[in-house]
Amino acid sequence: MAEFLELEAQDGVRMSWNVVPGTKQEATNCVVPVSAIYTPIKQFPNIPVLPYAPLRCRNCRSVLNPFSIVDFAAKIWICPFCFQRNHFPPQYASISDENLPAELFPQYTTIEYQSPGEAASVPPVFMFVLDTCIIEEEMAFLKSALSQAIGLLPDNSLVGLITFGTLVHVHELGFGQIPKTYVFKGSKEVSKDQLLEQMSFFIKKPKPPTGVIAGARDGLSSESIARFLLPASECEFALNSVLEELQKDPWPVPADQRAARCTGTALSVAAALLGACVPGSGARIMAFVGGPSTEGPSAIVSKNLSEPIRSHKDLDKDSATHYHKAVKFYEGLAKQLVHQGHVLDLFACALDQVGVAELKVAVERTGGLVVLAESFGHSVFKDSLRRVFQSTDYDLGLSSNGIFEINCSKDIKVQGILGPCASLEKKGPLCSDTTIGQGNTSAWKMCGLDKATSLCLVFEIVKKDIPDAGVQSTSNQFYFQFLTYYQHSSGEMRLRVTTLSRRWVAGPGSIQDLIAGFDQEAAAAVMARLVSFKMEIEAEFDPIRWLDKTLIHVCSKFGDYQKDNPSSFSLSPRFSIFPQFVFHLRRSQFVQVFNNSPDETAYFRMILNRESVANSVVMIQPSLISYSFHSGPEPALLDVAAIAADRILLLDAYFTVVIFHGSTIAQWRKAGYHNQSEHQVILFEHVV
Ligand SMILES: [Zn+2]
Repeated sequence: MAEFLELEAQDGVRMSWNVVPGTKQEATNCVVPVSAIYTPIKQFPNIPVLPYAPLRCRNCRSVLNPFSIVDFAAKIWICPFCFQRNHFPPQYASISDENLPAELFPQYTTIEYQSPGEAASVPPVFMFVLDTCIIEEEMAFLKSALSQAIGLLPDNSLVGLITFGTLVHVHELGFGQIPKTYVFKGSKEVSKDQLLEQMSFFIKKPKPPTGVIAGARDGLSSESIARFLLPASECEFALNSVLEELQKDPWPVPADQRAARCTGTALSVAAALLGACVPGSGARIMAFVGGPSTEGPSAIVSKNLSEPIRSHKDLDKDSATHYHKAVKFYEGLAKQLVHQGHVLDLFACALDQVGVAELKVAVERTGGLVVLAESFGHSVFKDSLRRVFQSTDYDLGLSSNGIFEINCSKDIKVQGILGPCASLEKKGPLCSDTTIGQGNTSAWKMCGLDKATSLCLVFEIVKKDIPDAGVQSTSNQFYFQFLTYYQHSSGEMRLRVTTLSRRWVAGPGSIQDLIAGFDQEAAAAVMARLVSFKMEIEAEFDPIRWLDKTLIHVCSKFGDYQKDNPSSFSLSPRFSIFPQFVFHLRRSQFVQVFNNSPDETAYFRMILNRESVANSVVMIQPSLISYSFHSGPEPALLDVAAIAADRILLLDAYFTVVIFHGSTIAQWRKAGYHNQSEHQVILFEHVV
């Protein structure tokens, strides 16, 4: 396992198979797909950043990398993907094997390029969208959390505010002393043209002909934009006074009814406004939602309280009347946001469901953040919001405007990506006919991404057979190249290039090599994403059966046993905990959905779909750590036997943490020992 962690520390990638099954048949027999979990902008302390543009293959556009074969005398490099011979340009004239450019250093398989002149200084944009159909107490929590957040915003960032309930209110923050708002009906979708019209963007100048309205660059004046998006340094006062005055939605709600809440309309107004003002630049819509949408195209339930909110059973039986309409609406919104390059973050804080299941598509395709809590007063919400803006070592490293591209050796195709991104529909020879997740493309948009965002790439091996089977040589290599363009938090555009090489094997005798290269943790994380995805899109899919069959096939291919002798069965240590992962996955919140609401399931899956292998493994199989006086912290078995009087147990299930005090420890705590200085112990904090 250690060598897989080393590879991850170098390139931010974990692959299920680090020795790749070399033919289509072989790959099918291996059951777990050839796949990678890649963290595109994982932070590395010493990543080289080159101040010039990358050199590209003139045939396939892949970037020069340490696996390229270089002829120093002829000043030529051979592309490992398409074998094209490329001439080095004049600025590389002095290269030799003693004088290599950084991108050819063998250890620099992951490297960044920062092109001079591309340093854009577009400020980040935050559009707050606030639900006002919440009780006074929640309102107070939300206001206080927000005014704290506003204090943390970078001074140059632009800020806008929309509130909604029965109606949508767009606040004109740049309008002097008197608060001014524009009001939209909650029951009707608003197009960008209607919005521009109604908000009198063209009041002082002739309206451009229809079809040309596209935003800042060719229509709106900066004064028009500054009415709704103000620099944080200038609007703090205005924003805080609007928040102070902000009232709960004034429309009366009969006792047998839900409040009229037009979440979707408010979000589409926000999207249209950003589309008009700042298309193409990094902007986030941050939605704070405190209850179910009941009004307009995004309604998930009627206003009538006698109608319950859809459950998994209703979705299973296809009897959730509003579901498909709402999902379709959010698919449209997702498309618009991806086109504009904008992110939707969702802070859902309510005891009820709010419609996370329907909103999922828009949050996930745009790479938005999702937080689910019971109240705006809950620490999960407050701490999460603070972390979005905090700039410390523990910040999220939010970036925007990402584009992810991939190159591979010709015997590999890409089935798709499971994770927070949207297809850019760049079709080509690299695309597999079978698609998984965002497929049928070799380029993806990542409107929002952070240093932890992890994509799951699923590959297909297409090589039919090997010409001289049985002859294995070390030159049997597959190459992968991942290219991520993104706007660094400093504002400049960067290109990160990760190039990987993995040996492939085929034919008799290859099984030991495959076993040696199997990363069971990465495989478990991939299977968890895959089973969740299949449960969402395949109507008759039976996840338990599918997982069981997977495990049986893996064991019969890679286990050691004599026929008809069960006790002879053994698995290599490389596979030894994989069955346990599958066991826990079967019982996990990703598969056993009926214990949870559709909103909770959507939330769990969105988090799974963006997390690293290590975090996914904890979600699947909780870790139990035992603390005692006799030894340092040590992992304990998930079993009642782990409980002892003089131990503290810490159960980390990722979404929840449970701390259990043994009876002696509990008594000590009752006696207040931990507050007495003579019992003070210095603990070494364990930082992951
Ligand atoms: Zn090439």
